[in-house]
Amino acid sequence: MENLSRKIREKARDIGAIVLAHNYQRPEVQDVADFVGDSLELSVKAMETDAKTIVFAGVDFMVEQAAVLNPSKTVLTPEPSSICPMAWQLDPPVVEEYRRRNPDAPLVVYVNSFVEVKSMADYVVTSSSASRLVSKLDAGKILFGPDRNLASYVAETTGKEVIAVPLNSYCPVHIGITPDKILSVKERMPDAKVLVHPECPPETRRLADFVGSTSQIIRAVGEIDAKRFIIGTENGVIHRISKLYSGKEAYPVSKDTICPNMKKITLEKVYRSLVSGETLVKIDEKLAEKARRVLERSFTLLGVETPWSRK
Ligand code: SF4
Repeated sequence: MENLSRKIREKARDIGAIVLAHNYQRPEVQDVADFVGDSLELSVKAMETDAKTIVFAGVDFMVEQAAVLNPSKTVLTPEPSSICPMAWQLDPPVVEEYRRRNPDAPLVVYVNSFVEVKSMADYVVTSSSASRLVSKLDAGKILFGPDRNLASYVAETTGKEVIAVPLNSYCPVHIGITPDKILSVKERMPDAKVLVHPECPPETRRLADFVGSTSQIIRAVGEIDAKRFIIGTENGVIHRISKLYSGKEAYPVSKDTICPNMKKITLEKVYRSLVSGETLVKIDEKLAEKARRVLERSFTLLGVETPWSRK
């Protein structure tokens, strides 16, 4: 494994490429990457780098988003079958149907969606910015998708009516983080703080000391004055926490809290991608431009500098 990691580093240097890895990737893929983070952080890293080739170890919508934000760069996925089943739950006909039935409600889409859906939205958010952006909207009723759990979290935290689009959308990994699993780990370590992702069901969130995005959970472990933490999101995050905070202990809710699509990417596939230049992700430029405008509007409402205005 060490040998392969060294070959990846050498090949990336030789061809002027960087490797980006999502927080849910296998530990060895995280370790070989130039940057590890959530999907938006990685898209921004892709924009900031001078490297012309980006190997993106993440699921389909993330790689697509990196390509949307970096039209002049070569964006490669090491495993095209690494998909996000939740992103696939929201397609353009569903968007049109909900729009037709709720003509006055703005449509806010989660970053875990495809470019065509993003281009049809009024705003795009991450799990860390969803409540903040929705609270700024001059509307009492909001369409939000995909993910009914994040939609309910936004409703709870903003006091607005938030309709999940579609109503039954969910992340198959986070929906499995149930209250009984949290309580069973908590019984063994009552002093541990419980940190969960807002894609978890509402009854799970109610047991948590902290609810936040993957990056917010990682930061919170560093900030909360405690030694032990029960981590209610995909288990790949635990590797990152262990590397960042040597004095703290992070425990999974279950050994099965794994996103199988994220784990499809291996060191072998990252290396093959660097050598072969496959698989290239290309987005229709008109569609990408529409999606970038929606992203820009969202960043502006949040009062943050758009990643592309820094270049
Ligand atoms: S953990 Fe859930 S939302 Fe994230 S990539 Fe896997 S299926 Fe999609």
